[in-house]
Amino acid sequence: MTGRVVDALVVGAGFAGLRSLHTLRERGYDVAVIEANDDIGGVWYVNRYPGARCDVESYDYSLSFSPELEQEWRWSERYATQPEILRYVEHVAQRFDLRRDVHLSTRMERAEFDETTGRWRVDTDRGTWDARYLVMATGQLSVRAAPGIPGADDFAGTTLHTADWPHEGADLSGKRVGVIGTGSSGTQLIPVVAREAAHLTVFQRTPNFSVPANNGPIDDARDAEVKAGYADRRERARRSPSGLGFVPNKQSALEVSDDERRALYEEQWRTAGFGFLLAYYDLMLDQEANDTAADFVRAKIAEKVDDPATAAKLMPRGHPFGAKRPPVDSGYFETFNRDDVDLVDLRETPIERITPTGVRTTAGEVGLDVLVFATGFDAMTGALLRPEIVGRGGETLREHWDAGPRTYLGVGVAGFPNLFVIAGPGSPSLLSNVLLSIEAHVDWLADLLDHARDRGATVVEADPGAEARWVEQVNARAEATLYPRADSYYMGTNVPGKPRVFTPYVGGVRGYRRILESVVADGYDGFLLSGKGRDVRAS
Ligand code: NAP
Repeated sequence: MTGRVVDALVVGAGFAGLRSLHTLRERGYDVAVIEANDDIGGVWYVNRYPGARCDVESYDYSLSFSPELEQEWRWSERYATQPEILRYVEHVAQRFDLRRDVHLSTRMERAEFDETTGRWRVDTDRGTWDARYLVMATGQLSVRAAPGIPGADDFAGTTLHTADWPHEGADLSGKRVGVIGTGSSGTQLIPVVAREAAHLTVFQRTPNFSVPANNGPIDDARDAEVKAGYADRRERARRSPSGLGFVPNKQSALEVSDDERRALYEEQWRTAGFGFLLAYYDLMLDQEANDTAADFVRAKIAEKVDDPATAAKLMPRGHPFGAKRPPVDSGYFETFNRDDVDLVDLRETPIERITPTGVRTTAGEVGLDVLVFATGFDAMTGALLRPEIVGRGGETLREHWDAGPRTYLGVGVAGFPNLFVIAGPGSPSLLSNVLLSIEAHVDWLADLLDHARDRGATVVEADPGAEARWVEQVNARAEATLYPRADSYYMGTNVPGKPRVFTPYVGGVRGYRRILESVVADGYDGFLLSGKGRDVRAS
């Protein structure tokens, strides 16, 4: 093989890639990161749309491996904005001297496992790498889904995408703006654009349950309080199903009186953000229980939106609350009380095409100067399947995942030795505080690689049987919930031709952690180690 030689090549310089770089470097591996964008930060580098912020609390959506970092960084708001998160990423990169091993503007195009050397040859648009380990830290939401609306290229005004917002910003003042998409991105963007634009038209295909962020500044007393107990807070998060620290209510929504339930929902609505979904343990397990929460949210929409006809259009029906990832909003529904904001219900009047001057639905054309796509991502697998990845016997990852992603624990893939995915399909990933899940994976992977190194093994791979059993478990857990009852990016239904499979592991961060621990206790059960010409079991 030719090209630069490293122990580990990490693909992606978002949180997962940077944390992998830091940890593997600390463990003595020679590591390099390649990043297709021209700077670090991953999703937080590209998703610069107005209003973009994290809807996991800042204290929890932050790296936990360094107590000094935790103490010195001062978050300004309960939910950090995208620019603040990017400043944090830069701070982390400088503090831990990460940039020297990050190769920007370098896109992985192809990787092939060499069965004779046990190494990966990785071709990029800037040359070739030769790596023992290939760590895919490419993110869950980094490839945009094509909305597939005819005429998109015909629009003569300005076209924007939330995940590709211009770095210099976009001046929307005095403009007629249209937004297609009402997921988390659209829901955050819409109130901000409404304040700036002359007129806003929101094109909604599926109304979304959204819970209020109740965002606000963090004062010094609160900051000191959190920092005094940070280690406990982190441990609580690791031991919670969501990775957010919420203690699930052991009661069923159906075993309490209507008054008691309403009181709890009111309290959660005022305080919990995402935690609303955990108000009762069975909200994602039982349709009748879920209906109580869905009815509550619909009643809130009716309270917030003045015009009953508009409120009715904004009320989600036909899918369980939470089965599509609920946005956490700041004034989304109230935005529709403005005279300069219109809602177009695409279920009533579908888009026919985009024209040079606007969007034409079956009710006629809406004239626009700016058209914003907030139309989402080819989630979980998009970035993993974009490059060609060739494993044992010439099988490609695309072939291996023909019927949906198959992994062992969301980390390893049978037939693709020495390839690892951070927070991949089959792990809690997007169903959790993803930053916590990323850190857990990186630490676990580093331990696995140390284990192999200690035994002189140079090839680590998931056993096909272990992978098959894990896939079965991931599917069975999902089938026991309400998640598969909605079309969503969790199910891959937003991308034409994608297999309809629930991709994350739904058993929660706490349960997943126990599984990882038991795999270690059993000598990395399910991973095969080999090297120096002999096959060895992991233990
Ligand atoms: P999304 O949740 O997939 O929403 C995409 C929206 O576009 C949906 O409303 C979808 O409608 C609509 N859409 C797609 N194609 C369309 C078409 N051809 N015509 C009309 N409408 C169309 O994507 P997202 O809002 O970018 O959010 C993705 C994820 O990113 C979030 O769930 C979250 O995990 C993450 N995110 C996080 C934050 C945060 O932490 N604050 C912020 C933004 C995003 P249908 O529902 O009918 O398909």
